[in-house]
Amino acid sequence: MSDHASVTAPSAPTRSTNRAFSVFAVLLLAAGALSAFAVGSWLPDRDNDNLLWTGPLLVVGFLLAEQLAINVDVRSGVAWTISFTEIPLVLGLLVAPFEVVLAAHVVAGVGTLLGRRVLDRAVYNAGLMFMEISVAFAVAHSVTEFVGDGGPFWAGAFLGTIAVPLLASVLGLAALRLMGKGMRVAPSLRLVFQTLVVALLNTSAGLAGYEIATKAPWGGVLIALVFAGITAIYLAYSGLLREQRDLEALSEVSLRVARSGRHVTGPRGASPEDDDGQAEDDEWQLIAERIREQLNANRVVLRLRTDPQAPMRTLVAGEPLPPGMRRDDPRQLREDAMLQLPGSQVRYFRIVDAGEDVSEALSRRDVQEALVVPLRGATQLLGAVEVHDRLSRWRGFGKADLQLLRTLASHLSTAVDNRRLLARLRHDAYHDPLTGLLNRPGFREAANEPMREADTSVVVRIDLDVLSTVSDALGQAWGNRMVVAAGRRLRDELGPEVPLARLEGGAFAALLLDRQAERMQEIAERLRTALSVPYPVDRLTVEAGAVVGWASTANCEIEDPDPDALLQRADVAVRATSEGEPLRAYAPSMGQIFLRRFQLVTQFRSALESGQVSVHYQPKVALPSRQVIGAEALVRWKHPEFGRVDPDEFVPAVEATGLVDVLTDFVMDKALERVSRWIDRGLRMSIAVNLSVRTLADEEFPNRVAAALTKHQVPPELLTFELTESGVMADPERALPVLRRLHTMGVVLAVDDFGTGYSSLAYLRQLPVDEVKIDKSFVLGMGTDLGDMAVVRSIVELGHSLSLTVVAEGVEDDAARDQLVSMGCDVAQGYLISRPLSEERFEAWLRARTVQVRGARDETVLTLVH
Ligand code: C2E
Ligand code: CA
Ligand code: CA
Repeated sequence: MSDHASVTAPSAPTRSTNRAFSVFAVLLLAAGALSAFAVGSWLPDRDNDNLLWTGPLLVVGFLLAEQLAINVDVRSGVAWTISFTEIPLVLGLLVAPFEVVLAAHVVAGVGTLLGRRVLDRAVYNAGLMFMEISVAFAVAHSVTEFVGDGGPFWAGAFLGTIAVPLLASVLGLAALRLMGKGMRVAPSLRLVFQTLVVALLNTSAGLAGYEIATKAPWGGVLIALVFAGITAIYLAYSGLLREQRDLEALSEVSLRVARSGRHVTGPRGASPEDDDGQAEDDEWQLIAERIREQLNANRVVLRLRTDPQAPMRTLVAGEPLPPGMRRDDPRQLREDAMLQLPGSQVRYFRIVDAGEDVSEALSRRDVQEALVVPLRGATQLLGAVEVHDRLSRWRGFGKADLQLLRTLASHLSTAVDNRRLLARLRHDAYHDPLTGLLNRPGFREAANEPMREADTSVVVRIDLDVLSTVSDALGQAWGNRMVVAAGRRLRDELGPEVPLARLEGGAFAALLLDRQAERMQEIAERLRTALSVPYPVDRLTVEAGAVVGWASTANCEIEDPDPDALLQRADVAVRATSEGEPLRAYAPSMGQIFLRRFQLVTQFRSALESGQVSVHYQPKVALPSRQVIGAEALVRWKHPEFGRVDPDEFVPAVEATGLVDVLTDFVMDKALERVSRWIDRGLRMSIAVNLSVRTLADEEFPNRVAAALTKHQVPPELLTFELTESGVMADPERALPVLRRLHTMGVVLAVDDFGTGYSSLAYLRQLPVDEVKIDKSFVLGMGTDLGDMAVVRSIVELGHSLSLTVVAEGVEDDAARDQLVSMGCDVAQGYLISRPLSEERFEAWLRARTVQVRGARDETVLTLVH
């Protein structure tokens, strides 16, 4: 057996770029021909009686030796062909004339090349073959002459044969160097040494075989058996070797792909321009390189689309693509489609037997043969791998290569698919699905780094203010449309680079740095103006306003500001805005407000338990009879530090934390206790308790009401719940069943602050309510504003047309009361009658300001005295 270091002969494309090699090949051919001529004429003619069969037999021998060759690829693109060429060669040296051996070798070599249709290395190989046989015969002849008849008859043939692989190795290494793929000294020497060892074995085996075949009876059979056995073992071994190396490559590529997944980027998305894209490209480049190495190919083209939005990336390992191959060329795409099968099969194309289209595609790539495999994900085409031209003296791509590529491709597809899934999940985690802007976590991530690098950063919060009204009135979908439109306007105003998030509802946040940060007042004004342009929604035009608050690292008094800290302060600034001042920068004094809110919320429960929270009562009086029909229960908190805290301040805070049930239950309990006391005294007066939105979403609430009524032995009609229209409309699906149950129980339901929200009587008709309370702003304005007066009048009339009791709150003077009487308003409540009073003071007020009279049904009623 022999071990050739066969040259990684360059394939066609290299020819143009590797002029040195071409020259070398031509020179080699010339030298080979010349030496063949010289040796031929120098050698004495050798007699051979069996020329007729020696020639063909040698051809068969050489062909077999090449066919059985095992191609083991050495890493750097050097193919190591283990062939048995030395065996026919040594036999030829023993028995055949020079010309016959030369002819047999060349015929067999060309035959092999033809069979595999790799003609591009023909010049080099032909030169090499001429050279080999000439040197072999020259050495053999010289040695035989030198040894003479006294020495072993085989010495010449032996050394002549050994000289061939040595020559081939040296020439091969030289060729490699010329091709710019030169190996380092140590591996080169090892290669030559290994070549030598295997050649020695091969040659000795050939000689021993010859001896046995010629001397022993039936020796030929013996030799054939030994030969077959060794071949079988060898083939099996090389198969194992290959499998193991393929596995190695496979695991390496898989690992790399898995690792490259770390580059999947965060909220800003992976555009190929950014650093992450570059790092990712580098990983894919290495993967392509590894595939090329493993398949011993001249070039690997990896086409990939890891991000569904991004364009295909093309990575080339090995020889660059010819300049004519434009990546975005539509022709290229058609070709891609043509070269790939619908499935995930690997296709093997050779220019020699390809159809016209394919062969044109191949020549545009400047290749002789190509393996092409599509990368298919679960749902779509992710890319493709093309492997171009095997770097080998004799062989093209084989079955094992196809198999390996198929497995590699399926690993790659799965990996890419997983990465896309991961990218998608990450994108979803960091983006608001409605507007496509960042969400809160996304903003945090996106703002973190720029903030650290900038001198000044500002977080702006922009709140669209009519949103809840629009959603209440027209439905969620309309509100959503406004939010999307608002997001788009902000994006247009701020430009594509600024991190912009939708926090919740109609609240947006943006991060502005350095230069922009200095012009905050101006930018805030621009943002507000942009959002205040009316929104065309279907056939309507919705007017909207916005408030803007911002917090800058320059004046927020924190050591190491992060996005959250600024967001929180921008939120405080937004809360500090008012109608007259819709733009506010955060000031540290505002932090106190924030801190106070925080304390209020955290302390509320213990405040309830320690008696800081109480309920005040404000009487409601029927018009025009002045009969006290009941009172509204209003919560009060006397905080040890802050003193009296306004319910307008702490109720919304408590609502936001989910403690509102505790509040409602507390007020209801106190109020019903009051009513039951009155009942004990023979008084039928009702009490009104305010409900929050959250309470209406609680299915358990009606049960708790029923329990409280039973506990205090109060008939349900003496309990009124006041709810705001927007409270019901925030989530009518959930609120309506609760309201219906309360109504069925016999509890009185009132719509509070009527006229402020989207007050639609059509809605009112659908709600199971008994009472409307005209908002105090209209009642207070009635004396000076004719418009308010008109509103109050129409509410009274419409309320009556729906058979509702109409209540006016905020009645502060006689004039207002008289007007309400003339309009026919049923009930009045306000400072004119009384401020909200504590339990004892309310009882005192009843005693001082009312007289007991007999009612129509002989009950005791209290009537206000003048
Ligand atoms: P509301 O339900 O509209 O309560 C009426 C508010 O108007 C009360 O303010 C009351 O003191 C005030 N008011 C009464 N008469 C007059 C008047 O003649 N002129 C003027 N200018 N104001 C008058 P208060 O007690 O500060 O309550 C504010 C808001 O807090 C209430 O508005 C209600 O929405 C909420 N609230 C109060 N107590 C509770 C409660 O127990 N539970 C819930 N969920 N909310 C409550
Ligand atoms: Ca109320
Ligand atoms: Ca009210």
